Amino acid sequence: MFGRKKKAYWIKKEHLFRRAEYLCSACGAKSDKPLAACPGCGAVMTRKKKTDPEWIEEMEFYDI
Ligand SMILES: [Zn+2]
Repeated sequence: MFGRKKKAYWIKKEHLFRRAEYLCSACGAKSDKPLAACPGCGAVMTRKKKTDPEWIEEMEFYDI
């Protein structure tokens, strides 16, 4: 039996003026820390962390 449990990973969203938050790659639930499982959809979180490129745009925006 394999594949019953959903797997996902946290997408780290970094912000310049507030704490980083983590988004579930499966359902988009937000968390302020990378939990072992998603509180929203129950997916098991892998270690892989992907940084959303959006925060780079945000940084450029403020870097004037
Ligand atoms: Zn989720």
